[in-house]
Amino acid sequence: MLFALGLCLIVGCKGGDAKEGNAAQRSGAASSTVASSTGFSGTAAYNYAKTQVDFGPRVPGSPAAKKAGDWIIQQMRSRADTVIVQSFTHTTADGKKLQLRNILARFRPNLNERVLYLTHWDSRPISEAATTDAERKMPVPGANDGASGVGMFVALGDALKKTKPNVGVDLLFTDGEDYGQFGPPEVDVLIGSKYFAKHLPSPDYKPIYGVLWDMIGDKDLRIPYEMLSFQQAPEVVSRVWQTAADLGYSDVFVQESGGDVTDDHVPLLNAGLKVIDVIDLTYPPHHTPNDTMDKISAKSLATVGDVATALVTRK
Ligand SMILES: [Zn+2]
Repeated sequence: MLFALGLCLIVGCKGGDAKEGNAAQRSGAASSTVASSTGFSGTAAYNYAKTQVDFGPRVPGSPAAKKAGDWIIQQMRSRADTVIVQSFTHTTADGKKLQLRNILARFRPNLNERVLYLTHWDSRPISEAATTDAERKMPVPGANDGASGVGMFVALGDALKKTKPNVGVDLLFTDGEDYGQFGPPEVDVLIGSKYFAKHLPSPDYKPIYGVLWDMIGDKDLRIPYEMLSFQQAPEVVSRVWQTAADLGYSDVFVQESGGDVTDDHVPLLNAGLKVIDVIDLTYPPHHTPNDTMDKISAKSLATVGDVATALVTRK
């Protein structure tokens, strides 16, 4: 693994792509079927993602966001040991007051040795990557960009209820990730993650590592290294890619550069937490009204869910 990481450095890894910039190369085939040994259900994850999408676009301040946030809290209260809701108001650059909620579901909250997983649950108010003016004004349904991570987390909650993790696990659902512009300059994005970085669950909160799981449902799933993660937390990248390889998913978790991505892990890296981004940005419906349930699959969610489960349940 370390060799492979080194190889990537030798062959050169491009950087500078913002999350909202051009996607990288087209992706290859999805993983061959591997029987899940972790107890994670991709079908359940898909159905939970569908519930999110069925609420409507989860744009901060909308009735759909209220319902979806309430639903996440309710689901996690029946799975996790503790659920903490961080409610806060964010004033946007144009003076609008947004009511936002980060939701933190904790398993084995008394353990000092912890792993932090995060994903955003909001969806984007505009579809700037769409082809027509009318479409560009529409909100993104966010099946992959918003709901895929939520679906995976709720299904992970099912798995962790059955098989206790061997470390403390914190599942953080961030709000307001995708609200404004990624820039540069960056305006009104990564809002929940920035808030969490300044309002950690305890002053000495220091998970052994963290993983942001974003856009992980693409039918055509292929996850290269995100290069800010690779540069700032290579040991975490190595751990996650090695676990994927152990499960037979090397064709999905590929040892290639995916460029730099401006995403929810950045405020946490800046706060000194070792958090990496697992993301497949090669997704044609990204930030368009076509980011719908038919573009994601239970199989892709099962692949990523297996890795997320194995990381915290295997010795
Ligand atoms: Zn997005």
